[in-house]
Amino acid sequence: MFVTVLVLIAVGTADFGALGQTRQRRQTLPKPVPQDDVTLTSHSRDSLSPEAREMVEVASVAVCRERLRDPKGSVPIDDMQGRPSLPVRSPEAIAGLQNAQRLLPTAKSLVIASLKRLVKDYGFGNPSTQDARLQRAIAHVEAVRTIRPDVDSRDNASVFLRNPHTIVFGTIFLAGLPSDEGIISVLAHELVHIADGSEDSLGLLFRGVGNRASKLTGLQIHDQRAEELTCDLVGTLAARSYVASTPSYEPLPRRISRSLEHNCVDQDEGDDDHLSPRNTIRALLALDPVLSRQLVYGR
Ligand SMILES: [Zn+2]
Repeated sequence: MFVTVLVLIAVGTADFGALGQTRQRRQTLPKPVPQDDVTLTSHSRDSLSPEAREMVEVASVAVCRERLRDPKGSVPIDDMQGRPSLPVRSPEAIAGLQNAQRLLPTAKSLVIASLKRLVKDYGFGNPSTQDARLQRAIAHVEAVRTIRPDVDSRDNASVFLRNPHTIVFGTIFLAGLPSDEGIISVLAHELVHIADGSEDSLGLLFRGVGNRASKLTGLQIHDQRAEELTCDLVGTLAARSYVASTPSYEPLPRRISRSLEHNCVDQDEGDDDHLSPRNTIRALLALDPVLSRQLVYGR
């Protein structure tokens, strides 16, 4: 089973240029990677202080507690996985698709702004070429036009190089993200894969984010894991910018939690390409102490 799945993924990548999925289906996941089973460790240089680590844990608990109280809370991905396939014509899938299509232009501009900010924060290699790489990445984001609902993608979203204008969104995933913030975080994730494109325009940024997150958490976050984490980081930044630009009476922690809640799983398993969902939350909070503070203190 495991070998078959890997071959399928490899063939897909070679033949069709799959840029990556938000995550892969549970049944396709390899055994958990041992170093990902541990919670944050403290032996590496530049790791979090005990206080900062405690803050990450408290904020992480706050996200998943908020999900339980929120009528628009996201469904955790392991829960989505156990659900029956959802037809494209089902009311929940239609509502999710309409929401995603409506929010796509907003997500695109928020991703572009977030990428510019991250490039400043993390550096981006040779200054003489960084602007060209960033502009290429931005052009890829601007060219995305549509979202295609797909029954067989179930609880995944993905993008393909052969069709860089479209984000494929599983119907179960569309229905499992009832909030604007949840949809924007996933759209942003996929848009970052598209931004990187076949030229690996954002490779240096992925490496910078992965290295910093590895140092802070003691987890191994390199190669594809670094790309996936950067996609998620942009997802949280985009969702927070959206929250800031669309005031409402809902509490701040409730709204920003929605960009992370699909990771509030019971079965917490990672693979070579992805941190486990709960460690994804921890790594994102470790990278962004302001996010942790907002979740815990509401400001
Ligand atoms: Zn992805």
